[in-house]
Amino acid sequence: LAFSSCGLPEKLLQNMETAGYVMPTPVQMQAIPAALDGQSLLVSADTGSGKTASFLIPIISLCAKFRQNFSNPRKPLAVVLAPTRELGIQVEDQAKLLGKGLPFKTALVVGGDPIARQLYRVQQGVELIIGTPGRLIDLLIKQDIKLDDVKIFGLDEVDCMLQRGFRDQVMQIFTALSQPQLLMYSATISQDVEKIASCMASDIITVSI
Ligand code: AMP
Repeated sequence: LAFSSCGLPEKLLQNMETAGYVMPTPVQMQAIPAALDGQSLLVSADTGSGKTASFLIPIISLCAKFRQNFSNPRKPLAVVLAPTRELGIQVEDQAKLLGKGLPFKTALVVGGDPIARQLYRVQQGVELIIGTPGRLIDLLIKQDIKLDDVKIFGLDEVDCMLQRGFRDQVMQIFTALSQPQLLMYSATISQDVEKIASCMASDIITVSI
């Protein structure tokens, strides 16, 4: 598989080249074509495998295609959950780098920063919301964020989210979406991880490298 044969937007390919992504990593080879095809995936992948780009590339591609004419109102098309604020920041940094020059804006919704500023950013119109479960729930409950256009639900380090006791919050966020494609990542695929995956999608495909 070569990145150039995946039907990705030209600008995204350029951004990937600038970032030094010449060859897809093994997890990207498996996950990117399946995700572009609309499949829901449970991927076992560690930090350093290129997992972040393997879900961001399909997300950016979908957003760029969907938002060609900047439809209004501009509601989020994808949500990515991360277990920690630090991981959320890393995901957003990579998303910004890869999404430069495309109709692709992001909002980071994590604890530790003023909620009002995060809400304002979401309301300005974004394609992707990256958040930790607790803070995103806060915004969902207290504020009026519309997630009904969300097509992709990404979950990074699901095992870690479950260990931190976020299961109910993750399910609550999932319930606010209308049958999104799932891109679920976990270092280890435990029974609990399998359970939450099959709870959300009966047709989820397991990808292990
Ligand atoms: P991750 O596994 O998502 O934490 O990514 C590890 C690092 O690999 C990040 O710094 C990425 O920028 C980088 N990376 C991701 N995909 C590629 C690729 N195809 N070629 C080179 N570097 C990559």
